[in-house]
Amino acid sequence: REIDLVEFLDGIIERFEMLEKENIVLSRSFPDSVIPVQLDTDKMTQVLDNIISNAMKYSPEGGTITASVTIIGRKVKVSISDEGVGIPKNNVSKIFDRFFRVDRARSRDLGGTGLGLAIAKEIVLAHGGDIWAESEWGQGTTIHFTLPLRKVKEGQR
Ligand code: ATP
Ligand code: MG
Repeated sequence: REIDLVEFLDGIIERFEMLEKENIVLSRSFPDSVIPVQLDTDKMTQVLDNIISNAMKYSPEGGTITASVTIIGRKVKVSISDEGVGIPKNNVSKIFDRFFRVDRARSRDLGGTGLGLAIAKEIVLAHGGDIWAESEWGQGTTIHFTLPLRKVKEGQR
């Protein structure tokens, strides 16, 4: 289905804002233009739900989570950044592996199975995109993923 990515992301973030969890601020940095993408909205909701709920799980009280959208050539990049605990450098690429969790004890307390990002990766790849993480231990984490762009229409929403 062809949809406007910005409108879709707005809807997802608004749902998280209604949960009003632990004083975490959600901030958005989206372009003004319509970003047409072809996607399975149920599956992409699952991807974003996991990435955003991870960001919330590992964020301190009062932390900011920023969602941004950038167009890079014929792709659109979605980035979700947090100011949380971060991931040790040697583990950054492993978080997309099935059942991988950085610190078993820490992760056990926070719940979950370690499958969320493995499923997210599968879904993003099936959409013709890519997914990766950037993280600084103790500073925060950004999960980036790309999607192929449909022809961008001129004009503002
Ligand atoms: P599930 O998603 O199945 O409920 P989970 O959240 O532990 O469980 P993933 O979403 O696959 O599993 O994430 C894998 C691991 O990567 C997490 O256990 C955590 O150690 C680390 N991780 C993921 N996102 C973040 C983040 N934003 N900040 C710090 N660590 C993260
Ligand atoms: Mg998860």
